[in-house]
Amino acid sequence: MDRISDKVSIVIPAYKEGKHVFTSLQLISSHIASVCDEYEIVVVDDGSPDDTWEQLLLSTKVIRHLKIIRLSRNFGKELALCAGLENANGDAVIIMDADMQHPPHLIPQLIATWKTSNADIVECVKRKRGTETLKNKLGAKLFYGIISKLTGYKLEGASDFKLLDKKVLLAWSSMAERNTFFRGMVAWLGFQKEQIEFDVEERVEGSTSWSIFSLTKLAIQAVVSFSTFPLRIVSIIGVITFLASIILGIQTLHHKIIGSAVTGFTTVILLQLIIASIIMVSLGTLGEYIAAIYNEVKGRPRYLISQRVQHENAKVYSN
Ligand code: UDP
Ligand code: MG
Repeated sequence: MDRISDKVSIVIPAYKEGKHVFTSLQLISSHIASVCDEYEIVVVDDGSPDDTWEQLLLSTKVIRHLKIIRLSRNFGKELALCAGLENANGDAVIIMDADMQHPPHLIPQLIATWKTSNADIVECVKRKRGTETLKNKLGAKLFYGIISKLTGYKLEGASDFKLLDKKVLLAWSSMAERNTFFRGMVAWLGFQKEQIEFDVEERVEGSTSWSIFSLTKLAIQAVVSFSTFPLRIVSIIGVITFLASIILGIQTLHHKIIGSAVTGFTTVILLQLIIASIIMVSLGTLGEYIAAIYNEVKGRPRYLISQRVQHENAKVYSN
């Protein structure tokens, strides 16, 4: 494709990627340099305990247009991504992972699709998931199944590997919530979309840093920030139990009146268990929403930056 004059930013969150981040960045930078004159690569070190930051510092000596940002601790991928996006100032932004699961050779195609179609968002959709363990596959199915049922957004196959036009980024930055679920937010934004299919590559090194806990947390966050359906379920369960208890009450009274009062504790115990569990579930759901409100109300910064460095040839590092 022809070279373009627009400025493109590539944003990459990195956590414990020290072993290969330098080679990944070299490859990414060669692909972007093949189509763009003006570009920047913004890497956010999400408080990695390994040598990621040192490797990034070394990279800034070699890789042109590289800007690196270090967060003060591990804030999680979502917030590292926020930090990167808020520090990117291209006409378009490409978001990708540092572990090469998002093939860098698609960068020119992403840019070409953005330039030739009317699309404001070019998404890379996973054709097949890499050879993941059955547990992860099931986890992903369950995760996306629940989210699409509850929120109405079809996110299956969606990845964070995408290009956003500057106007989408501007719209995104007007979403003030602190509990961010990036894929969901982009789905909510709308705009003209194009899709490119890609095969998820193997992780070059290391293992995924998602644990069952962090995935569950992300799933709850996704549901709570995009749907109030769980709250409605609580009300529905409330109504059903109310009706059931009226019927049970009438029956018990009836037994009493005709003189065959209920014997034994079974009913009592069962009822107690059921009611207690319904109350627990309801309280838990309410708690989730209150926690979400609490987090938003605290109004804390989403992340904190401890250091910024850039390649010496890069343009003045604004903001
Ligand atoms: N990541 C991050 N902070 C974290 C966990 C992950 O910035 O706390 C980055 C990681 O370096 C990678 C991307 O997010 O670039 C995706 O992470 P990973 O490969 O572990 O997840 P998966 O590919 O399994 O979704
Ligand atoms: Mg990965």
